Amino acid sequence: MENLQLRSFADYKKAYKKSIKDPEAFWDEVATTFTWQQKWDKTLEWDFKTPEVKWFQGGKLNITENCLDRHLETLGNKTAIIWEPNDPDEESRYITYRQLFVKVSHFANVLKNNGIKKGDRVCLYMPMIPELAIAMLACARIGAVHSIVFAGFSSSAIARRINDSDCKMLITANEVYRGSKKVNLKEMCDKALEETPGVETVIVYRRTVEPTPMKEGRDKFWFDELQKAEKECPAEVMDAEDMLFILYTSGSTGKPKGMVHTVGGYMVGTTYSFQNVFQLEKDDVYWCTADIGWITGHSYIIYGPLASGATTVMFEGIPSYPDYGRFWDIVDKIKVTHFYTAPTAIRSLAKQPLNFVENHDLSSLKVLGSVGEPINEEAWHWYNDNVGKGNCPVVDTWWQTETGAIMISPLAGITPTRPTFATLPLPGVQPVLMNNEGEEIPNTTEPVEGRLAIKFPWPSIARTIYGDHQRYKDVYFSTFENKYFTGDGAYRDATGNYRITGRVDDIVIVSGHNLGTAAIENAIDEHEHVVESAVVGFPHDVKGNSLYAYVILYDKVEPSEELEKEIKDIVSQTLGPIAKPEKIQFVSGLPKTRSGKIMRRILRKIASNDTDNLGDTSTLLNPEIVDEIMAEAKHD
Ligand code: ATP
Ligand code: MG
Repeated sequence: MENLQLRSFADYKKAYKKSIKDPEAFWDEVATTFTWQQKWDKTLEWDFKTPEVKWFQGGKLNITENCLDRHLETLGNKTAIIWEPNDPDEESRYITYRQLFVKVSHFANVLKNNGIKKGDRVCLYMPMIPELAIAMLACARIGAVHSIVFAGFSSSAIARRINDSDCKMLITANEVYRGSKKVNLKEMCDKALEETPGVETVIVYRRTVEPTPMKEGRDKFWFDELQKAEKECPAEVMDAEDMLFILYTSGSTGKPKGMVHTVGGYMVGTTYSFQNVFQLEKDDVYWCTADIGWITGHSYIIYGPLASGATTVMFEGIPSYPDYGRFWDIVDKIKVTHFYTAPTAIRSLAKQPLNFVENHDLSSLKVLGSVGEPINEEAWHWYNDNVGKGNCPVVDTWWQTETGAIMISPLAGITPTRPTFATLPLPGVQPVLMNNEGEEIPNTTEPVEGRLAIKFPWPSIARTIYGDHQRYKDVYFSTFENKYFTGDGAYRDATGNYRITGRVDDIVIVSGHNLGTAAIENAIDEHEHVVESAVVGFPHDVKGNSLYAYVILYDKVEPSEELEKEIKDIVSQTLGPIAKPEKIQFVSGLPKTRSGKIMRRILRKIASNDTDNLGDTSTLLNPEIVDEIMAEAKHD
């Protein structure tokens, strides 16, 4: 396996230039470092109008040969996965590349024995245990398409996703441990299965010893099925453009979209970005705390790290169990070198007394990562100072389920970082900012702000929305001609560094000024008594729109008019009086998606006093908070 790592900023600039001048030659060279059963004959074919993107056509491969087989000779005994259980007293599991290879091949035969063939869709609803990785790779091994549904979703959310992509099989576990709770996954599945006529077989992994009701003929235990299966399983020959998986977006902005990723381009994009953003060395231990049910887990717990021969950590539990020091306890215990998490987790940990961090030796850490939302300045500094001790580059990685791989991010230790900036595009990524008239804002040395689009395809772009190509076209390719529209806004400074300002839906026009809510929240969060905030716009007779802020205070702080004034003043001083929220509501929590993002569309409705139809709330983590916020909303 060749190393794809750029080593210096000069290397990066050179690679970037080349990738723009001749993208096909650039990606050809990258792709050549992988294992193909047959080389492609056409590097790229694309048309953003139809829209259609195809990479490495004619190429034949199997992604599991790249994640497993090709490492056996040199890295067979290296740990591929370190698994940390929910309960710190339960034993960790260390799985080598060779063991993982054997387990994946073995389980792949279970899929085959149960009638799963290339192209069939398989739904995985599993906890964060190695068997999730095994099931996922086993699907890829035989060319079945996995659709992973985060194991915190309700039965109706599972049913909807199973039916949307027509899954034939469901793989689950009987129960899952989450902090001090035990959740019965199988029960949830049984309820979902009442509405999913297409599912023929359910494979159940026993995570606990509790008795599990099984439906005769349909439900089978993982372990029993393994006993019946052969051990060896040749990798299915896949076309580069065959489907690898379907994954639903988190639903922050509306009905979840089943994004389709294909084998070749996804593999090349995730692996290249993984190696360059994180800059791992030989014996490093890399830990991404995301759930595999999100794209971050797909690309940066499984495919990118394994294709790179890295040691990747899987954690079953939650950051607050048995106490708020759990993340740091694990870092200390297994000497994690690379730690990748989300701003929402950082903010919730920053809220806790500092001794949870200080009680642990974090000196193994080399690189810190952030993903999922704009990271506010205070959280960035807390992370950098207290976790990284000022010694670890923080890579703020901007990307989406749709992009498959990181798009804009510093390369650790190479790209100069700056708080709240995702900095520069990765090689092969051509971002552009668009103005309100739909024109491209020229690439000058003036700082500018606009809507973020991408003007050239990259290998890991999602190819369609499963079963709804028209929606794919409408959502991503109809806003700007010949460009992929991200839905996000961005600011670009004089040196070309990007700062994501949030979703465009979250940009509020007040008296003719475009205000990104992320910047306002950033300012509010600077107040010493504020944990987190969310700002939205609501219609205003004179100004067009006005701003409404929802603010969470630290536990012991009482809301007061004085505090309201202080918060308004902070915003006024930082961004100008125009950005001052007209209304401030103190709340005990914010509605969040299960991936931890604030669902601003609901807050917008509450602020506008338009709560008859809140839209799709099935992906909400804490629906109860919505009623509380509604009851105390400030309306004139
Ligand atoms: P849906 O598309 O269903 O609304 P979602 O957009 O939350 O869900 P994801 O694909 O997981 O689902 O998230 C991608 C979005 O997350 C980006 O478009 C962006 O708004 C935000 N995001 C991700 N990483 C960053 C980052 N580093 N900085 C700022 N924003 C980020
Ligand atoms: Mg999105």
